[in-house]
Amino acid sequence: MTFSSIIGHDRPVSILKRAIQNDAVAHAYLFSGEQGIGKRLTAYAFAAALNCQAAGPAGGCGVCSSCRKAASSTHPDVRVVMPESHDEQHLATLSSKEAAKASDEIKIDQIRRAQESISLKPSEGQKKVLIVDSAETMNDAAQNAFLKTLEEPPGDSLIILITAMPQSLLPTIRSRCQELKFQPLPRPVLAEVLREKRGLDAGDAWFAAALSRGSLGRALDMDVQKEKTDREQFLALWEGLGGMRNDEILALADGVAKDREGFDRILDIGIEWLRDRLVYQETGDERLLVFAGGIDRIRSEQDRFSLHKALGDMALFILSRDLLERRISAQLVAENLFLKLGRA
Ligand SMILES: [Zn+2]
Repeated sequence: MTFSSIIGHDRPVSILKRAIQNDAVAHAYLFSGEQGIGKRLTAYAFAAALNCQAAGPAGGCGVCSSCRKAASSTHPDVRVVMPESHDEQHLATLSSKEAAKASDEIKIDQIRRAQESISLKPSEGQKKVLIVDSAETMNDAAQNAFLKTLEEPPGDSLIILITAMPQSLLPTIRSRCQELKFQPLPRPVLAEVLREKRGLDAGDAWFAAALSRGSLGRALDMDVQKEKTDREQFLALWEGLGGMRNDEILALADGVAKDREGFDRILDIGIEWLRDRLVYQETGDERLLVFAGGIDRIRSEQDRFSLHKALGDMALFILSRDLLERRISAQLVAENLFLKLGRA
């Protein structure tokens, strides 16, 4: 893992490179930003650059034994701490029963062991690096224990905290780190990577890039076909309501309400669809749609488009989501929504 293999994030990466060049690396960094956008890879690249045997202005060389060990997480001077439940290598060694019990928290003894290890001299490289991934999952005791290390970091050590929720860290922890904010990746960048790495066609890549909201991790894992099918099904469902009797609509709503997760998804997709309609109405730019697969429908209904109705429908979907969050019966919410949509 080298800086050149990081996609996007030019700003944080250049700050880190400059710190290395100027011999001004801070003792502790906080990498913040959404899940799956490349914070951990950047931390690995930084650790590799600091310990590389042939580091240049671009960072680690990527081929020396030190870089290779850093990339395969086997470098003795680079230690990663994360909650047990996030540690796939560790989970693979557990039975399914044990894995289900794996903790979602970083515990105080994990922090203590990490503290001991970074207080030793580097064994192969120049710096001991401690990466705390999902740092917000440190419980209070762990955060307080960690504070001591941040206050008096051992000489040749570097600490990198990684989190999507910096606000969940104690202010005393945040204030002792140099924070680097990682921005979501722009849609064209993600689309390009998806075409390259997953071989998606341009349309699918553009669609998946919008859905992944700036996260490459999310984009790479996404089941694009299912996402498209879900939207087609949603549009068919909505269209179908118009020709149904009330008792049929109620039966359909009751069925949908039984699958709470599926119902949540319908609401999300409905809001996204209405947003697409409003955006297209305003701009006429197909590239701005999340789901371009709906463009024929949007165009065919263009003459009958009513801003008033689209906003009313949007409010209805948002209200339904609020009601579900307030634990109103999903059946009532679905019946109300579907009857109103069907009556249009
Ligand atoms: Zn190297």
